[in-house]
Amino acid sequence: MNNFDENNEFVRRKIDPNTTPQNISGRNLGQVRRPQNTAPRAPQNGQAKPRPGTQGEQLRRSVNSGVRSAGTPANPRPASPRTNHPPKPERPKKEIDKGSILRNILIFIAMLAGLLILGSALLLSTLYVAPEKTKTTYSYYYGSDDKSTSESVTVNKVLYMNLTEISDMCAFTVSGTKASLRYTADQGEYVEFTIGSVSAKINGDIVNMEGAALVRENENVWIPLSFGEAYFGGILFERDEEESTIKILREELPESSDEAPIYADVTFRIKGSQTIEGIDEDPDIGDIADMGFVNDLSEYEQYMNPSDRDAYLILVNKTNSISAEDIPENLVSIVNVRQDGRKEQMVECAEKALEALFIEMKSAGYTDVSVTSGYRSYNKQVSLFTTYLQREMANNPSLSEAEAKEIVLTYSAFPGTSEHQTGLCCDMHNLPSADVAFAQKEAYTWLKENCYKFGFIIRFPEDKVDITGYSFEPWHYRFVGRYHATRIHNLGMCLEEYIEHLSRAENQ
Ligand SMILES: [Zn+2]
Repeated sequence: MNNFDENNEFVRRKIDPNTTPQNISGRNLGQVRRPQNTAPRAPQNGQAKPRPGTQGEQLRRSVNSGVRSAGTPANPRPASPRTNHPPKPERPKKEIDKGSILRNILIFIAMLAGLLILGSALLLSTLYVAPEKTKTTYSYYYGSDDKSTSESVTVNKVLYMNLTEISDMCAFTVSGTKASLRYTADQGEYVEFTIGSVSAKINGDIVNMEGAALVRENENVWIPLSFGEAYFGGILFERDEEESTIKILREELPESSDEAPIYADVTFRIKGSQTIEGIDEDPDIGDIADMGFVNDLSEYEQYMNPSDRDAYLILVNKTNSISAEDIPENLVSIVNVRQDGRKEQMVECAEKALEALFIEMKSAGYTDVSVTSGYRSYNKQVSLFTTYLQREMANNPSLSEAEAKEIVLTYSAFPGTSEHQTGLCCDMHNLPSADVAFAQKEAYTWLKENCYKFGFIIRFPEDKVDITGYSFEPWHYRFVGRYHATRIHNLGMCLEEYIEHLSRAENQ
């Protein structure tokens, strides 16, 4: 049953043949992003220098010249807390005068006192937490009446506003799911937020926020205040730093009569040359010292965080296929495969980064996860697809070949469209076969929170099915390197969205 997982995975994909990515130009993506020669490049040993003038370098330059957040310092890392430790009091010296018992007692008392001081100092140093200076409570004034609420509106040093309240005030139409909400104003303009994601959509255009959209008490949705200030028209935002108040009012239009006030239409606009607030386009991606690894993984750093950071950004999906000739170089055996005689392979850089991931995952207590599938050749995919096609036609002889193919495409990737052909991804889980139930396992939670540190992303997330064209695959991990994996993680995007996001930044 060597192919059990593999087949199972295909079966579970259940691709809707009518679902094609809506917003993505496959042609552009392929052109912009696919590395030259298509086959993913292996990392050179040592410090491979990016070559000037290559696509990758152009991408980097454009990314580097991107917007830096006004609100985010270039290097937000706080000073090391180690410098705050109090000096240790000197231990009293032991000088025993045999002639004086009294003196011995005094020395004993002094030692005791010394130990007591030392102990208290240590205790204090562990209890002391620097107060968060920006933890301010702002008062809100919604609407034109003085209906005010007082709530703590700072989350991770970012000022937030209660969007649910504003939505009520402005009578927005709310639609979507609990995880992804759309607020539509009178004139049909809308803003859309995915809970937990820093990327929002304004009338279809992706805009990044200073912090992620959140759900807080009473199921209210909160978003960074700066986002509202930048993009909401028809609402007045008045900050009073001294009084610690924020007033959020419906803007009143000048009126001639004494009748009820007339409020301006609320609009959501990206105004003119307005730049994106918040997210740092070239964030200070952490090096190994910032990752909090419990093991010494320094020998793996060159793989997790490759110096040629765009080398692994290839996009393969239904609209960006690769040919039979695209065979990755440097395929090596995967170390952490299931112990059933499997021989699975990956591109060396991705495999080494995966080894590092397994070392940390095992230290975190998740020892039963293993890789069930890695590189798959074009020919293997052809033979799988052909097998499925013949089976469908045997089961239902009235089907034409085209009809049978349509059916097979709902659960198996057409040759050339499987990411497994890149050698940059693997399936791993701790179930008998790849199943969406893996998402309920603690090991998955760990992978979801940590895989980016090793350069991996969840390729087919639960909330991106309409974009990837694949149902949620909690077992499928794709290597892109730590730089891009961290950005994808922070932006809450899938690979298709991220590559489109990069293309847009490049064209600006
Ligand atoms: Zn897979």
